[in-house]
Amino acid sequence: MKRFLRTSLIRAVTSLNLDEMMLRYQSRRAGGHGPVVQVVGMHETLQEDAERLRRQLEWVEKRFTFISPETFFGLWDHTRTPPNWSKPAVLVTFDDGRESNYTVAAPMLESLGTRGLFFVVPEFIGLTGSDARDFYYSNIDIRGLAPAESEEQWTPMNADQLADLMRRGHSVGNHTLSHARLSDLSISQLRDEVEGGSEKIASWTQGPVEAFAWPYSWSEITRQSWDLIRATHRFCFSPCPGTTDCSSDSPYLIWRTEIEAYYSTAEYRFMYSGAINPVWAGRRRRLQSMLNA
Ligand SMILES: [Zn+2]
Repeated sequence: MKRFLRTSLIRAVTSLNLDEMMLRYQSRRAGGHGPVVQVVGMHETLQEDAERLRRQLEWVEKRFTFISPETFFGLWDHTRTPPNWSKPAVLVTFDDGRESNYTVAAPMLESLGTRGLFFVVPEFIGLTGSDARDFYYSNIDIRGLAPAESEEQWTPMNADQLADLMRRGHSVGNHTLSHARLSDLSISQLRDEVEGGSEKIASWTQGPVEAFAWPYSWSEITRQSWDLIRATHRFCFSPCPGTTDCSSDSPYLIWRTEIEAYYSTAEYRFMYSGAINPVWAGRRRRLQSMLNA
């Protein structure tokens, strides 16, 4: 029923072109567009979805300014004048560290003149064959599904590919050492997952790990884990939709909208329009009050 309502709503909004209207409204409200960013969160970017993803990103390119992680990180430096882009900004991020992000998504972003932010799970990185599959279905996709036939679904990147992404101007972030639920952990387990994860990534990429993204739902975070994330990273990304104003929002609570490579045209247009954002306002407020408590 929920699925049916969602599909009907998306169909109604896009068939009336309400999504384009909302985009124009958001654009006007953002004014000079400088520091307001829509952060997109994706997972797998399979070869079979490559054409779909290309069409999505080309649609985005006409309506938004793609920004790289480096540009995004620089927006928080209030000593600089905010840029004045003609269109609102989009940063594309990926969770979990699948190899399809390296083979399909990274070159596509480069062909559009931008770069991505890849949140990876160090204990998953470099696994092969049944080790990769078993880890994937016990730690990353825990819905209890039968393993996909195509190993592309569960094959992770390796450490050389992460280092190569960094060399090519992309950024690698920490998605916890083992894809753990932060809200369930003791302080010493939290240290392993948060600090241990970023130390492992830094040993591969030879650079600082600036960004952290917690796994699972918007509410799988605690004040204690936040304190540790803040002590060890410059940015924390949430799985909670919204747009982020880098001149006034906290760098430890960056809103992120899940928009997948396999989404239909109607679905991604709906998600980029921001039409979903009001639905999440209560959850954004709850996270803000938890962070500021
Ligand atoms: Zn994840």
